[in-house]
Amino acid sequence: MVESCFGSSGQPLAVPGRVLVGEGVLTKMCRKKPKARQFFLFNDILVYGNIVLNKKKYNKQHIIPLEEVKLESLEDDGQLRNGWLICTASKSFAVYAATSTEKQEWMAHINKCIEDLLRKSGKKAVQVHAAVWVPDSEAPVCMHCKKTQFNVISRRHHCRKCGAVVCGPCSSKRFLLPSQSSKPLRVCLTCYDVLSRMKAQQSNNASGLTAEALRDGMKDRSGSADSSGEEDSDEEDENNLSRGQGDSAATHEEVYY
Ligand SMILES: [Zn+2]
Ligand SMILES: [Zn+2]
Repeated sequence: MVESCFGSSGQPLAVPGRVLVGEGVLTKMCRKKPKARQFFLFNDILVYGNIVLNKKKYNKQHIIPLEEVKLESLEDDGQLRNGWLICTASKSFAVYAATSTEKQEWMAHINKCIEDLLRKSGKKAVQVHAAVWVPDSEAPVCMHCKKTQFNVISRRHHCRKCGAVVCGPCSSKRFLLPSQSSKPLRVCLTCYDVLSRMKAQQSNNASGLTAEALRDGMKDRSGSADSSGEEDSDEEDENNLSRGQGDSAATHEEVYY
């Protein structure tokens, strides 16, 4: 049923042993603002998408393997209540339930599924998670230099390591974060310094690189750090979004997730 609601926009979901644990609407914090999304919790994956027609048609399907997920409860903050973070190696974001009971139920069920999966597979929980992006609206000026005001020309960028909203000059460097991409990603100057120092330390400690270091993004790849090279897919999306800036339409944000 879920598969057919996504139609051709989604992937096949029927897999032997997969069962639907729960479903419902959660508010997902997107780059511009919070938006309602339909979530389906299966015993091994979390699926969500845009609601085209309530209970009938969804699109923009996203599938998150639960093995990689870690949840983190969020304190209530003004309008943003009953929230928690869904963190994975490649991306992390906040969602909000309508009531605190719903929040507890969602978190308990998701955590139970994760526990069962990890116990069955014998795998360990993923330790490194992608940064949660600070929403655009929370940063009228660059969070690094505290000077650059954002507008059509001075665009917002997100540091892939800490999630801060920074200006172009303050995020001119790239660093390899293997848990997120095989290509070096945009990082702020602060993170670049920290990452570079850690990398140098790793090389000093010689005797090769540890698995942790690799996961932490310390992989040594000469010349990668100041790559003027290609942008990752998010970056392309960022460009697309920027072209659409000023549109009130809510069509561009989804490309991020
Ligand atoms: Zn700046
Ligand atoms: Zn940063």
